[in-house]
Amino acid sequence: MGTSSDTIAAVATAQGRAGIGVVRVSGRDLARLATQLLGTLPTPRVATRSEFLDADGEAIDSGIAIFFRGPASYTGEDVLELQGHGGAVVLQMLLRRCTELGARLAEPGEFTRRAFLNDKIDLAQAESVADLVEAATETAARCALRSLQGDFSGAIEDVARELVELRTLVEAMLDFPDEEVDAVHRDDALLRLERISEKVLRALAGGRQGSVLRSGLQVVLAGQPNVGKSSILNRLAGEEIAIVTEIPGTTRDAVRQTIQVEGVPMHIIDTAGLRETADRIEAIGIARSWDAIAKADVLLLVVDACTGLAAADGAVTARLPQTLKQVTVFNKIDLSGEQPSAREDASGWVIHVSARTGEGIEGLRRTLLTLAGWQSGSEDIFMARERHLVALERVRGALVQARQQLAQSELLAEDLRIAQRELSAVTGEFTSDDLLGEIFSRFCIGK
Ligand code: GDP
Repeated sequence: MGTSSDTIAAVATAQGRAGIGVVRVSGRDLARLATQLLGTLPTPRVATRSEFLDADGEAIDSGIAIFFRGPASYTGEDVLELQGHGGAVVLQMLLRRCTELGARLAEPGEFTRRAFLNDKIDLAQAESVADLVEAATETAARCALRSLQGDFSGAIEDVARELVELRTLVEAMLDFPDEEVDAVHRDDALLRLERISEKVLRALAGGRQGSVLRSGLQVVLAGQPNVGKSSILNRLAGEEIAIVTEIPGTTRDAVRQTIQVEGVPMHIIDTAGLRETADRIEAIGIARSWDAIAKADVLLLVVDACTGLAAADGAVTARLPQTLKQVTVFNKIDLSGEQPSAREDASGWVIHVSARTGEGIEGLRRTLLTLAGWQSGSEDIFMARERHLVALERVRGALVQARQQLAQSELLAEDLRIAQRELSAVTGEFTSDDLLGEIFSRFCIGK
């Protein structure tokens, strides 16, 4: 990435034809660029009808320009947003004009990276921008937005503040090892330590739930034709239609779809599509499905309750990774006369349902949610990433250690220092350039 003060530009809207397309420009001082492009400098923060001019003063497009004077902008620098017509060629012409005027093409996530570097948002918030864009269900989107608005960062900062107070207290104990004062201080320190630990545990629990919402459950679907696989998926999804089923890079293969159960995305990989094929495009899709199967969590094997397990079921499951947790669903109990049930045995979960009547489906939903690690009704869900969970686990570890060192102020002080350092990794106070590069490179361009 270039220096963090040069001017960057990108098309911020998705590719393809659309009503409106946005080009976004950010830099230290955009007054000259904006004036040359628009003829005059628009009043800051006022949507201004404008022509976007090429080098000869001819219009490339006409639309709305909004100028944000830094630091009151998304990136903290001057920002110019050009809303033109959403055609690929027109937007590219506009982008080229911006580069003529001194901007360079932005890297993925570079606008948000600047927002972070200029203290407009912290790292956890920057990450939730990407999570919001990528959210696969409505619940995940709402959760990402709450993190973006600072709920998660606020909870972390709250813990950090209390940690600082506790550290001050412990430092004082080191400086004045007077015995009487010491006993009082030690009780106080213990109380504080317990309160902080509780808050960290709560953040961890909320974070784990959020990470379920982010990644969902990868489900491999198997079973013979006509046993009722589609009917079961329809029942599971119920009224909740998946909003997004396109996962980048997998849009071509028809064997994957996403449904949501209580807002938790369930990515379904259908083994029915995994046949031998001479078609090259289809073969690519199938290879991708096998990659997805290798990373899947659960095998959902659907069996007709009237005929029971078929030899062919064994042939399919034998090809799947043995690490998959197995859920065997006996469907059509309305015909077999069995009762709905869900129980766990040595081979995994065995569930009896009828997709036709809906009996037993709730048990199946519960089982899948449990396997995903989802606890219904939890509050304070945070859109945490693995990185956050690891950091919070370390904080928790340091606090447990601290609890055992209560009698030895020096060791206690050291553990608290470690806890605070780990905590600050979440919001990005001390983060290496490598980590920043890794986080922002996954963003889309123009974000
Ligand atoms: P798939 O090929 O495994 O996806 O099976 P479908 O979902 O297309 O269902 C095959 C047939 O079985 C359809 O005619 C369904 O209406 C029927 N079916 C599915 N589930 C049930 C069930 O629980 N009870 C009964 N009686 N029929 C079912």
